[in-house]
Order: sequence, then C-alpha cells, then structure tokens
Amino acid sequence: MNYILLGPPGAGKGTQAKKIVEKFKIVHLSTGDMFREAKKSDPSIAALMEAGKLIPDEIVVNMVKNRLKKDDVKNGFLLDGFPRTLKQAKELDKSLKTENIKIDGVFSIIIDNEEAVKRISGRRVCKCGASFHIKFVPPKDADKCDYCGGQLTQRADDKEEVVRERLSVYDKQTKPLIDYYKNSGLLIDIDGLQNEKIVFEQISKFIENGR
Ligand SMILES: [Zn+2]
Repeated sequence: MNYILLGPPGAGKGTQAKKIVEKFKIVHLSTGDMFREAKKSDPSIAALMEAGKLIPDEIVVNMVKNRLKKDDVKNGFLLDGFPRTLKQAKELDKSLKTENIKIDGVFSIIIDNEEAVKRISGRRVCKCGASFHIKFVPPKDADKCDYCGGQLTQRADDKEEVVRERLSVYDKQTKPLIDYYKNSGLLIDIDGLQNEKIVFEQISKFIENGR
C-alpha cells in the first residue's frame, strides 16, 4: 500500500493526507515534516529554511531515500510533497527499485487556479493558532478572532500575487511529473473541487480496490 499524493496549493492535500494515513494505518512521509526534523540537527538546512530558500534536490532526495530504508515504511506509506520534479521522480524510482518497493498509485488532486486563489487568499490567521476563511469559515466579527478577540491577519504566503506565483511554479514543475506517472499507468486523477468528504471517499475506494 504505497502511494504518492500530488496537488497544488489549496487542493486540500494536507487534509486528505491526514485522513488517508489514519484510515489505512500507513506512514505519512511528508517532506515538510522531514525538513522540520532535519532543521533541528542540521544547521545548513536550518539556514536555508530561515532564508526562505528551496532545499536543493540532492538533499531532499537523500532525505527521502534514507527514510525509505526504515522498517516502518514496509507496511505502506503515503509520500506527500515529494517528488516535486521529474528529476526527483526518477531518483525516487531508482531507490525504490533498490529497496524493492512498488508504488501502487499516484493521486493527483486537481483544482483550477482561480479556485485555489479563492481558497488560499481568503485565509486569515490569529496569533493564538486559530484560522478562518473570509468566505468559507468567516469569523463572527470581521478581522477579529472568535476565540481570543485577536486581530486576524493574512500570511504573506497567502497573498494573491504570491499564491499565483506558487501556482505557476507548481504547474511548471508538476506538468512533466504528471505526464511521467500517466505514462507509467500510475496516475489517478481526483476532482478536488468536490466536497472534501467525497474526495476522500474516492481516494479510499481506489486504495481499497488495491489501486
Ligand atoms: Zn485568536
């Protein structure tokens, strides 16, 4: 039960990943989590992350390779945030071969860019950790947190122009990756505009059927 989860920012990938690993008791291999972990022991990674720079391909690939050697992945895993580029996908294939691991499917959650922009740029957060959405989860009092009354703000990353840039980077990087998995017969397209429950049901069905 080994899967890869792809999706642009705003597709609800994080929510789905959490549900999938819970239901199917497989390991969540999130490169985001790996980076946060590596940051604690590796000052060079910490420096890159703090400067907002991308972690070089080689480091990411090695991180995932080492992770795949651990015993807990033998019962199945969900790769999330990796691979991001065609080069990474090919490197991944090499090390999967070495470890004798097979990928069962690659879920690609699809939403259009306008919907992604709507979902992300409407997010508002509070210092207490609460988060809202001006349209989908609006605070009772505009710009004020329901829980602590704090001022709600928009993350720099969530601003419309930044979101559009992130989406265009995703499109550019992921397009060859999608084609690659389509050609290998692993790609499973999921319509991410549907309700998140339906999205999860569809993904679950594929996994239950051994896809
Ligand atoms: Zn608050």
